[in-house]
Amino acid sequence: MPDTNIISQTHLIILHMFQISGYTFIRNDPVQHLLPTRKLSHLPMLTLQQQIEDAAELLQHAHHIAVLTGAGISTESGIPDFRSPGSPWQDNPPVGYKAFITDAEARQRYWQTRRNLSAQVALAHPNAAHYALVELEKMQRLAGIITQNFDGLHQDAGHLPERVIELHGTSREAACTLCGNRSSMSELQQRIDAGEIDPCCPLCGGYMKAATILFGQKVPDTALLPAKKLASTCDLFLVIGSSLKVTPASMLPHIALRREIPLIIINLQPTSIDHLADVTINQKAGEVLPRIIALLR
Ligand code: NAD
Repeated sequence: MPDTNIISQTHLIILHMFQISGYTFIRNDPVQHLLPTRKLSHLPMLTLQQQIEDAAELLQHAHHIAVLTGAGISTESGIPDFRSPGSPWQDNPPVGYKAFITDAEARQRYWQTRRNLSAQVALAHPNAAHYALVELEKMQRLAGIITQNFDGLHQDAGHLPERVIELHGTSREAACTLCGNRSSMSELQQRIDAGEIDPCCPLCGGYMKAATILFGQKVPDTALLPAKKLASTCDLFLVIGSSLKVTPASMLPHIALRREIPLIIINLQPTSIDHLADVTINQKAGEVLPRIIALLR
């Protein structure tokens, strides 16, 4: 094992050259963070194979991995994400929580959009990226999954429900916006399909909707606190398929980075924290994640 505090003169010269050429370095601090285990995998000169090997090398040394997934992990299952070019959400922005509560017309738009979304989610199956995470679980390297998705595909792939923190809830159940009473989503959908316009809670009369978190709605502490705990106790943080533009999910990698642990990002488009990652791979998760996991022993 080389001495991690020794930084060669050659390394420093190369670093300065990249700084001049406009690249940002790992953790914004080239000298402090130029450790032999830290690869410059987000720099374009590395081949995809090298990036995959770098990611596998970091994962190989981790035994308490926290994974944060976003809508991007499910696009290969046929569910569009939110921010990719061409996403249907760009022409049809989601109804926010305040509008849902205060505006009958917004609630109609909500139910109309949900009908299309429910059909997509109902047809979707886990893809190779979801299954690769199950392999990681079987290797006993996974501390847990934090997902922004409400599609239930991690559980369908084989994770126990208690291993998946659904930050933004689930679209498989319905919930009352007033008392929190839960019911089956398919039952509620049947009421809508039968012509009910504004389905209300049988217990308190509050508006019912899917048990997901709308923009403007608070992520409950029952999900956020365990997610923060995972981020502050894991030994590697892996982001898959998230633009990291939605809070509080976007702050979780920063909680992990306070302890100087490795960060790996697998996302089709660059994120605003790629420069903080030890390895960044801008490719499809379903194509690269199985290749990374296959390298682990
Ligand atoms: P986002 O749409 O903001 O970002 C998704 C990211 O995934 C993009 O940066 C894109 O480049 C990347 N991506 C797309 N396909 C990919 C692939 N095959 N492999 C790797 N990366 C890929 O999504 P977000 O960060 O999760 O935030 C959006 C919000 O919308 C979340 O709150 C989420 O709850 C919600 N949402 C969920 C679903 C779902 O449950 N499947 C679908 C749409 C939106």
